Amino acid sequence: RTVYVNGDYLPENEAKVSIFDRGFLMADGVYEVTSVIDGKLIDFDGHAKRLERSLNELNMPHPISMDDLLKVHRELVRINEIEEGMIYLQITRGAPDDRDFVFPDPETTPCTIVLFTQNKPGLADSPAAKKGMKVISIEDQRWGRRDIKTVQLLYPSMGKMMAKAAGADDAWMVEDGAVTEGTSNNAYIVRGNTIITRQLSNDILHGITRAAVLRFAKEAQMTVEERAFTIEEAQGADEAFITSASTFVMPVVEIDGAALGDGTPGPVSARLREIYLDESRKAAI
Ligand code: PLP
Repeated sequence: RTVYVNGDYLPENEAKVSIFDRGFLMADGVYEVTSVIDGKLIDFDGHAKRLERSLNELNMPHPISMDDLLKVHRELVRINEIEEGMIYLQITRGAPDDRDFVFPDPETTPCTIVLFTQNKPGLADSPAAKKGMKVISIEDQRWGRRDIKTVQLLYPSMGKMMAKAAGADDAWMVEDGAVTEGTSNNAYIVRGNTIITRQLSNDILHGITRAAVLRFAKEAQMTVEERAFTIEEAQGADEAFITSASTFVMPVVEIDGAALGDGTPGPVSARLREIYLDESRKAAI
């Protein structure tokens, strides 16, 4: 695989980052994951805009223009011959001479920027979407700025391990009695023709897929309610699903051991997945 590091395209085993990099020492970095279908980027603009916002919120310089970022994404897709898969992008506050809590001067310590591709043939036609996934609930123990897409993924990673140990596929995190989101996705429930998902705030990541799916749902005459919901309400819902750049719309069929409906993916989730994939394919660049 060819990867991108600070302006260079290199074979992955030749790519290097300093041991003093603040991404490594302090999780001082942000990231984005953009999907590729038919060799094209899904919602690149949305991901680029959120990246800019994450950098601004953390007072990090913008080390690359959005035009150049698009070029790098496209070049990696071309070189690595990605038809279906993902592009991972990470920007950290660089590698100062020594470890220090205080931010380094951006004039002397440039950001580190890394991109790599992940080849996932069959991503859009995933069998998991036909089966649906099982989730468990866990307490949300993350920091208070979940709207910034930082590389501090230890708690979500622990959440996935807890889900795995319980025989489930993922965990929905709960704070003050209400679901915030999944470990790496936004969470939704469906009641009749209404789609319910938590309102945007610092408590959740503002999913790029979420924004697109809510737009498509409204266009398809579904009602959208942006509000918090409990695990009990979710267990009594007609359907549930999650969204993320890498899973698109993925049905949830079981929550804390309780099956939703007949335990198979519901029609609204299946329809939204289809609409999302169709529309995203058309708009891909
Ligand atoms: N919420 C969290 C915590 C995430 O990590 C992610 C994606 O990685 C999402 C939601 C979904 O965001 P997006 O649709 O932009 O991939």
